[in-house]
Amino acid sequence: MKAAKYEGKEKLSIADIPKPTPQEDEVLVKVIYTGICGSDLESYKTGLYPVPVVMGHEILGSIVEVGDKIKNWKIGDRITYNMSISCGKCLSCQRGDVHICYDEFRELGIYKDGGFAEFVAINEKNLVAVPDSIPDKHGTIFEQLATCIQSVRTSGITKEDSAVVIGLGTIGQFIMQYLKYLGIKNLMVIDRNPNRLEIAKKFNPDIALTKISLPKIKGATKRFGADFVFECTGNPAVINTSSSILRKGGSLIQVGISDVPFNFNFLPFIKNQNIIQGIYAWTPKDFELAIDLVARKIIDPELIVTNIIPLDDIVEKGFYEAIKPDTKEIKILVDPYK
Ligand SMILES: [Zn+2]
Ligand SMILES: [Zn+2]
Repeated sequence: MKAAKYEGKEKLSIADIPKPTPQEDEVLVKVIYTGICGSDLESYKTGLYPVPVVMGHEILGSIVEVGDKIKNWKIGDRITYNMSISCGKCLSCQRGDVHICYDEFRELGIYKDGGFAEFVAINEKNLVAVPDSIPDKHGTIFEQLATCIQSVRTSGITKEDSAVVIGLGTIGQFIMQYLKYLGIKNLMVIDRNPNRLEIAKKFNPDIALTKISLPKIKGATKRFGADFVFECTGNPAVINTSSSILRKGGSLIQVGISDVPFNFNFLPFIKNQNIIQGIYAWTPKDFELAIDLVARKIIDPELIVTNIIPLDDIVEKGFYEAIKPDTKEIKILVDPYK
């Protein structure tokens, strides 16, 4: 079968590899679409993932074969993949924080061949049914939306609070849409990419800016600064600057991933008694809610999915395009049969 094989930093190419054979607790899935994730891009740039592997974990597909022990799934079921399956026994799981399970997730597309291929084998415990009311185009983004739901839930934000969302990729866009749905009254968004800002503006944030503007944010928050900053870029300079737009006692919700050491000035955060909250993954409940919000059209991925490309074009129209700073793309889906 056709697959995109990742073999290290900037090494991604189309290859012919054997079609996977499902184990007794797995199903074979014919891929409909697989989304290109920010972490895939990061890995392409830096060589993060172990190699070789077929990347792709944001998978929508239909079951074409079931392993011997499979009872709850049948051929033809349309499914998505949920990596966040916890052990149920560790301290985190006992406390209900199953998304930060000590038994780390061994995700498809990183540790095992994933969805940038015609077929993928998936363990039944990671399968989630996708309701018929959700179109294929909207069926790969639940993981990111679930992360956004978790971040907002963990932040403890209320309607009366003000929030700034920095970085309007898939995650930032969904956080903005979700905060809007929850009725947050003072919602500000920032992205230097005008294409992304234009898409965000369609959801009527109170303020949309191309850069962090202290006077504008102070002006919108009676000079005090925002209650919450949802930082979705992972950019060190932005993380450092976020202290300047937070109110005293406000919270930095760090959703963007930063995996390199950098100079961080803690002093403003200390003096202003700010909370810095890391965000990782989601619980099964967040994932369920993500599917429900898309099914009920409360969250709309239509404008977030900006392109669907053939697997053959994954490097040129996918990875190259998405990495450009002025890209018009937000979420790109790969169709192995296009
Ligand atoms: Zn992802
Ligand atoms: Zn656990």
